[in-house]
Amino acid sequence: MPPLELPSPANSVLPTYDDAPPDYGAVPVSVHDTNEFVRYHFPPLQGQEEIELKVFRWYLRNSSWARLEASATPLQGPDFECGGAKWKILAYPGGVRGAPGNVSLFLVWNGLQARPQDKKTYTCAQFAFCMCNPSDPTVFETQNAQHRFTHAQPQWGFARYVANDALRATTEQRSKPILENDTLDIIVFVRVLRDPTGVLMHDFRDYDSKAVTGYVPLVNQGATDYLNAMLCTLFMNSYYRKLVYNIPTQGANPTESTAYALQRLFYRMQTNSSAVSTTELTKTFGWRAIDAFTPRDVFDFNSNLQERLEQEMKNTPDEGFIERLLYVRCETTRECIASPAEHRTVETTRVAQLKLPVAGMDTIYGALRELAYPHTSPCPLCPTSLPSRDNSATSRTRITHLPPILTLALDRFLPTENAIGSTRGRQRRPELLNYPPTLDMAEFIDDPAGQLSGPVVYNLAGIIVHESVVSDRGYHYAMLRGPGSGASVTGQQGGRWFKFDDERVVPALERDALEAFYGDRSAAAYGLVYIRAVEEPKVLCPVVDLDVPPHIRENIEAPIIPAVVPPAGGSRPSITSLPDRPAYEVSVRVVTDDMFKRHQGFDLVALDSSDIPRVTARWDERLGDVRQRFAQSVWRAKTQHGIRLRVVIQRQNKTCRPAWALAKLDDSMTMQQIKEKWGSARERSLVFYIEQITAATATLDPGKSLIFLKQFDYRSQTLRGFASVYITRSEPVRSLNRIICELLSTSTRTSVFAYYEEIQPVMVEPMSLNTTFQEAEIDTGDVICFEQLDDDDGLMPPPSRRTHFRNALSFYRYLMSTASADMATTRSTSRLS
Ligand SMILES: [Zn+2]
Repeated sequence: MPPLELPSPANSVLPTYDDAPPDYGAVPVSVHDTNEFVRYHFPPLQGQEEIELKVFRWYLRNSSWARLEASATPLQGPDFECGGAKWKILAYPGGVRGAPGNVSLFLVWNGLQARPQDKKTYTCAQFAFCMCNPSDPTVFETQNAQHRFTHAQPQWGFARYVANDALRATTEQRSKPILENDTLDIIVFVRVLRDPTGVLMHDFRDYDSKAVTGYVPLVNQGATDYLNAMLCTLFMNSYYRKLVYNIPTQGANPTESTAYALQRLFYRMQTNSSAVSTTELTKTFGWRAIDAFTPRDVFDFNSNLQERLEQEMKNTPDEGFIERLLYVRCETTRECIASPAEHRTVETTRVAQLKLPVAGMDTIYGALRELAYPHTSPCPLCPTSLPSRDNSATSRTRITHLPPILTLALDRFLPTENAIGSTRGRQRRPELLNYPPTLDMAEFIDDPAGQLSGPVVYNLAGIIVHESVVSDRGYHYAMLRGPGSGASVTGQQGGRWFKFDDERVVPALERDALEAFYGDRSAAAYGLVYIRAVEEPKVLCPVVDLDVPPHIRENIEAPIIPAVVPPAGGSRPSITSLPDRPAYEVSVRVVTDDMFKRHQGFDLVALDSSDIPRVTARWDERLGDVRQRFAQSVWRAKTQHGIRLRVVIQRQNKTCRPAWALAKLDDSMTMQQIKEKWGSARERSLVFYIEQITAATATLDPGKSLIFLKQFDYRSQTLRGFASVYITRSEPVRSLNRIICELLSTSTRTSVFAYYEEIQPVMVEPMSLNTTFQEAEIDTGDVICFEQLDDDDGLMPPPSRRTHFRNALSFYRYLMSTASADMATTRSTSRLS
């Protein structure tokens, strides 16, 4: 069966994706028409550069397909070449283990042709398989995926590509079956992509931030992502960093002096090889460990930090420097219409960041004009007893001083009320806000004294990003620009961009920073950092060891051990890579709803992720004591009714499901007894789920079960944890509609939902709305995924041509292919003769 290799199309004839997607279905696409096929059935290029696109056809004529289905032996297709790498197709007609009754298809990478043995080489590729009726090229079943093929992970594909029955069936769209006269074709379209950042499609296993970028991330203490984003932003402004090093702190205590703690933090960020802890710094704010789990506003934190530093800089030679470097000064004049002369006030304010009203604005310039626009409000000095006269006042705000580092806070949030609880949250406005790479502030500065010399043109140097999927709680990270080789006034020659996520620092492209966070996706700019172009060489100056006073360098070896020990390193260590612990110690991990909501993938959380806080306990330690330590370190301050601990069952297939609730009575049990009673013998660790109790759930109702809801969002193409909720087992599955509508608290009263049960990583089943939870065997700890089938508010743009997954099942299928690729490698392979 020799493969027919079609000539690869030249780049110039590839379709572009700038126009609206054509109406698929009017004319059936033929798999022989490469351009049309790629246009309809292939992931589009999203700014990536193609190296080569090729098509390979494998004809399986008179193949005795039924016999192949019954056999466990996989078929290997002939070798082919694309993008400098060698490839082949691996097919399991009867399915890999875990997916019987399906065809499993994988694309196998055999290394680069030039350097087949070099373990560091890899290839990033998008690919689409197509199983096709040989006599009718419009009858086919296709699925696509993308992967970074490495020597450690050389094959990728679909465990459940198509069901065996479906190959023989005809449908409304398909007048013939795919398999006819024991004959079918397997075609693969492979597009190899360039990797300009070095991390394209990277799964970040064993990723070393320092080695790749030269920067290290900060450890998240719980919910301190906002703090990390701000601290990394400040760190990158090296002039600011030098200034902080200059604050005299000899003899200070790093848990009391904010300046000293920040100096030590910056020095560690400069010299450490792995993630740096922020606990020393937060201790100087008087935080207890529990405060690290309270979400706060980035800019409140920043203002607070700068004020503390200024306090410690009083009466030193550098007093006032932070103000000159960071603070914006504004003057607000209010004038009463009735008595302009008497009722006139002038108020001067200074702020560490300029808060811009962005509601209804589409550019930063619009927001700045809105700020300067006169506003009318009642005059506070006019007597209210005189309704006949006009007692309104006009106030105008003008900017009187602009600093070299200009931070803009985008006022993007609206306060919201959660329909279920009484907790007030906030929701991000959906507006698109364009921010330029170069910002000219000339129009907005009122500088009669002429203090500023030269143009007030600023270059974008950083973006604080707020990412939220469903809940009002978000997650922050920073996109930051490093110093350029020759930073210019236009910003064109600036340095490389990096994404400072608290787990890791990753190289980014400038275009990712510029357009990606306007606001039409789940992530949007919340803060912008601009550096005045004429001062940029100074602000982003290099910092050398000699800039750091000796006492900071010398005393750095005595870190304070945090109560919750986060795993060291920017990468995610697996459990097996942790050092052996003494036999009398047990690692206790906790899972909370916040972690569930941040998780994307199968199950509640990835238990071996560095996100999961751990405490070390002794096997003979009593639950009451361990509970106390969790109370101090992990549970969030908001809880009014307390928490309930549940033992998490870790099953063979790596799922983790919270099950038995531990009562106060169990506090006298030891860790050993708990493991013996509820844990699995195989596990050397214990995992607890922390449930936050409300008035309604304080007492356990035997007829109710605690389940975990996940949401597949079609528009953002995400699958995330949504909420943990109690259901009544005797009620039908459709009763979830009401619960979800309440939680979504938007205009979703008439919404239609579909539900799927996530049984285990390779089993996700649609649920019937009318069966009861009892009949569906749903119990505490189970995971149900929902997706909204209708459109509600139109706040976000409709699914674009970027869409890969039509529904939750297709998203899960993609996850399954990821999970099963490893499985397939463990089976023996033999060539089809
Ligand atoms: Zn007045």
